[in-house]
Amino acid sequence: MRFLAGLVACALTLSAGSAMASDITNVRFGAYETHTRIVIESETPLDSRAFTLAEPVSRLVVSFDQAGWDVPTLPNRQGEGEGLVGRFQFDGQAGAPRLVFALNSPSTVDHHFSLAPDGGGYRTVVDLAPVGATAFQQTSGFPSESRNMAQFLVENAVVSAAPPACEAVRVVIDPGHGGRDPGALARFGGGDEADVNLAAGLVLRDLLNATGRYEVIMTRDRDVFVDLYDRVEIARQAEADLFISLHADSAGDSTGPEGATVYSMNHRAVDRARSRAISQGDWVDPNRPEEVSRILVEMSLTNKESQSERFADALRTEVGRVQPLFRETAMRANFAVLIDAEVPAVLFEMGFLTNRSDARRLNSATDRRRLMQSAASAIDEHFAHCQGGGSDRYIAQNTASASSTR
Ligand SMILES: [Zn+2]
Repeated sequence: MRFLAGLVACALTLSAGSAMASDITNVRFGAYETHTRIVIESETPLDSRAFTLAEPVSRLVVSFDQAGWDVPTLPNRQGEGEGLVGRFQFDGQAGAPRLVFALNSPSTVDHHFSLAPDGGGYRTVVDLAPVGATAFQQTSGFPSESRNMAQFLVENAVVSAAPPACEAVRVVIDPGHGGRDPGALARFGGGDEADVNLAAGLVLRDLLNATGRYEVIMTRDRDVFVDLYDRVEIARQAEADLFISLHADSAGDSTGPEGATVYSMNHRAVDRARSRAISQGDWVDPNRPEEVSRILVEMSLTNKESQSERFADALRTEVGRVQPLFRETAMRANFAVLIDAEVPAVLFEMGFLTNRSDARRLNSATDRRRLMQSAASAIDEHFAHCQGGGSDRYIAQNTASASSTR
């Protein structure tokens, strides 16, 4: 989640640079027969929202535009509630500071208002009333209006042009098929697709390693079966900067289709990537509004698409110098291995095992090395355009200029 971490870090930096936060000075409770009252005291008036969440545990969230914590009796930022409220804690680290209250039983926000000081501090008041389980499910959830951080991210949507990071560049090489899945079968002797893919992948690995500029991760480095989604997962866990899947095509007869094709993901693959990301735990943070998570996914997908296409162009250009291309233009497909929401990814069909000339090249150590050298050159070229301090700095610079012109 390098990309996501960069965004959130930059959002936090900027919000910290604006007005001083008003401190919460006390949190107290009143348990009544009909409701439980929560009173949050502060030095200055606080803008807040209050909503309940049913998943993963029942809780009340009171989030603030700005707020610090200065409650002398609760230095650990947590305490015990009363009535409908169990333990609570203050979270000042999230994009929007918030108080999170565990609920002892299903309840709903009955009233939520602010009061001027009357001897003490400003008061934010939340009245909770008990409800049935069904009503609780229906009334719980993140408020639908986008706010603060979401707006901030949209207004500063400069990251789609972010170049890849320069330092510790991680490249995942994915030799397609393997083990019980041979892929396209050899027709003129030599290896089946799985063997050809692996041989090429190992050459590319060695070429990249020799430069000393990359950390190379293989989805497989021997003849084993690896599930498609496990391959995606390897790239995601590695927080890879590039994923390149190696394949060999099959179509027609010995004089049929010839040459290489480079694919990036099409719209259906983007849709799959989006729903997969949303259903995945690490994109959805219960401590931030769901719409913020969705915006982050969109921004990451935009970034991934532009980087994947840029690399696909570079790869096609380099490969075209050393062997025929089946398609000279950008090609898109709905391949499962391309659908991580973050890692730029291409699928490289190196040639047709069904074509006699391609099959000869794919099985020749010399030609294979030449082809992989062209892939390595494309990777060098892709990462030559990275920014000096990595993408985080690039995002911060652009965001700073965006906010200064507002
Ligand atoms: Zn294949």
